[in-house]
Amino acid sequence: MQSYWEHDAWMHYDYIVVGAGIIGLSTAISLKEQAPNSSVAVLERGVIPSGASTRNAGFACFGSLTEILYDMEKNGEEPTVHLVRARYNGLQILRKRLGDKACGYEQHGGYELLFAENLAALDHIDRVNAALQEIFPTPTFRLCNDLISTFGFDRKRVKALIQSDFEGQIHSGTMMRSLTHYAQERGITVLFGTAVEAIESTSSHTMLCVQHGGERLTFRASEVALCTNAFTSEFVPELGITPGRGQVLITEPIENLPFRGVFHLDEGFYYFRNVSSPEGERILLGGGRNLAFAAETTTAMQLNTAIQQELERLLRELIAPNHDVRVAERWSGIMGFHATKLPIVKRVRERLTVGFGCNGMGIALGSSIGADTARCMLEK
Ligand SMILES: Cc1cc2nc3c(=O)[nH]c(=O)nc-3n(C[C@H](O)[C@H](O)[C@H](O)COP(=O)(O)OP(=O)(O)OC[C@H]3O[C@@H](n4cnc5c(N)ncnc54)[C@H](O)[C@@H]3O)c2cc1C
Repeated sequence: MQSYWEHDAWMHYDYIVVGAGIIGLSTAISLKEQAPNSSVAVLERGVIPSGASTRNAGFACFGSLTEILYDMEKNGEEPTVHLVRARYNGLQILRKRLGDKACGYEQHGGYELLFAENLAALDHIDRVNAALQEIFPTPTFRLCNDLISTFGFDRKRVKALIQSDFEGQIHSGTMMRSLTHYAQERGITVLFGTAVEAIESTSSHTMLCVQHGGERLTFRASEVALCTNAFTSEFVPELGITPGRGQVLITEPIENLPFRGVFHLDEGFYYFRNVSSPEGERILLGGGRNLAFAAETTTAMQLNTAIQQELERLLRELIAPNHDVRVAERWSGIMGFHATKLPIVKRVRERLTVGFGCNGMGIALGSSIGADTARCMLEK
């Protein structure tokens, strides 16, 4: 049973956002920016943000050459360029809001390793650079094969290396902590340990039900945003959002690690980067979902042994064959995917808007989708 004080001060808001990932927090911040006098709350089921935003690889990336080519093929050139622009703009919003230190942002550039079977992509560099020239001040992609040996990669397998100056990397934990504080400092109520179990819309409000101490509590708002990524299908199955689990490992510090930056390979199915920790430089490596698509289409946060073994093999044979590497930690995280790979920002029911769409690349895009979601909620 709630007290008068509790339900009077804590349960009713103008706007409620479900999910405190990068999209949810960015939506709440954009709402407060656009409607400063409104009351805004974020309900998050985890004790800390507990989705992909704190479990990712921290690439602040816009798409590698082969990923952009794939997207152009699938969705057309214009929507793909629009998406890259939204990623670029989103990253600028995030960096402006928090500052680079609070994101752990470093810009060492991005690279793509091409194997023999990927070399045809090189024929399209000029076309893709031309399509992206309105976004980036200098050509986005260029060959840098001289760095393959400098970086110590397996020369037998890596046939070409493509560089992009504009990609960066963040510390995902620091960034999400800073983003949470940023929201709270602007008067947004962020409630953790608050798992929404049911959503009911009426003509005047949307109600969100949560369990607390054996009791069912009901939050109420004029407008609600659902920013629950892979878990959106629990409430709105008709959108066709599916989960995709990602596997990650990080090494112990490695002496004289010869590379810095974010690296993509195998059409984005694998990725690795340096991580500058107080103890020294580490390698973070993730991916391998393509080895077991069906098994990895899950929301279960577990490790897949076969994929972890493949990650270790790549680490030792391809990425750091000249170093003694030891794995320090492993984890998994759940991404949300949609067939088009394009964002979904739309009102799905009266007083309920969905903000979704990072498809495995949300750091750069998240703030843009948050702004769009807030705009959609404010349009009556
Ligand atoms: C292993 C891995 C590596 C990745 N690497 C990168 C990368 O390097 N660069 C990049 O740009 N992107 C990367 N991504 C993708 C990126 O992390 C996501 O695109 C982005 O974080 C999605 O943000 P979001 O806010 O939509 O979702 P999430 O961060 O998943 O947030 C959704 C939130 O909703 C909460 N929630 C769910 N259900 C409920 C409920 N019923 N009630 C209350 N709260 C609920 C969850 O706990 C969660 O905190 C990676 C993802 C993974 C898993």
